Amino acid sequence: MSYPWPGGARAAVCVTLDFDGESPHLWRTRADPPDSLGELEQRRYGPRRGIRNLLSMLDNLGLRATVFTPGWIADRYPEQVAEIAGRGHELALHGWCHEPPSALPRDDLRRTLERAATTLADLGGQRPQGYRSPSWDMTAEVFPVLHELGVGYDSSLMGEDRPYVVDDLVELPVDWATDDAPYYRYTSGDPRPPATAPVVRAGWAAEIAAAKRCGSLCMITVHPWLSGRPARVTALEELLAPVVADAQLCTPAAAELAAWHREHGEGPRVTLDELGRP
Ligand SMILES: [Zn+2]
Repeated sequence: MSYPWPGGARAAVCVTLDFDGESPHLWRTRADPPDSLGELEQRRYGPRRGIRNLLSMLDNLGLRATVFTPGWIADRYPEQVAEIAGRGHELALHGWCHEPPSALPRDDLRRTLERAATTLADLGGQRPQGYRSPSWDMTAEVFPVLHELGVGYDSSLMGEDRPYVVDDLVELPVDWATDDAPYYRYTSGDPRPPATAPVVRAGWAAEIAAAKRCGSLCMITVHPWLSGRPARVTALEELLAPVVADAQLCTPAAAELAAWHREHGEGPRVTLDELGRP
């Protein structure tokens, strides 16, 4: 069954940035922060340089992206986050300090997300409408919290390849194959070097071509500390320029796509009970 994409397109490509910076590292090492500065600085490349490289590339293409931003990052790097919103991109929730929801009691989850929503709204002028769970780690507890916060969509699950509905929340599905982390994330001692930018570009071009054939959504997820490096930004621009020029592909920001799905979408509706049932 074909999905009724905006503008009569055959498929959709959604470009999302997970602007994590050093927050996942700080969360993971919070009990015993290491003396080593290597990974901290590797990750700080994102807020210091990578985000600006990606924003310039998106400006060149005239493409609007969704930037999932932990509240801590917005607090620590307000200029960069204000600039993201100032250039017309969507800001959306991604925890406070990249805490996976399975690590938090429900009240803490609600409190941290409310604080992050307020921080993003202060900088971006708008309350975030969407959520992506840190590390795509989801629990059933997250859905009622998102409802309480007035969030309309989530983008963390992989149960479809086009928008669907989980517990009355629009789900914009993700895919590890079009996340940059498995290809580019590298720390000293890993057995394999990071993938090269041309290899990732070719693989993702195949993903987009297949989405166009099947009428599905290609959800691209990039991290400024990884994909913000020059050769990788260049490869991404080369990948996305023909997408933007292709009238058979639409490139909505996540909130636009979620609103579209509420109005026009078709597809599965999953309840929380069904989600957790073996
Ligand atoms: Zn993240």
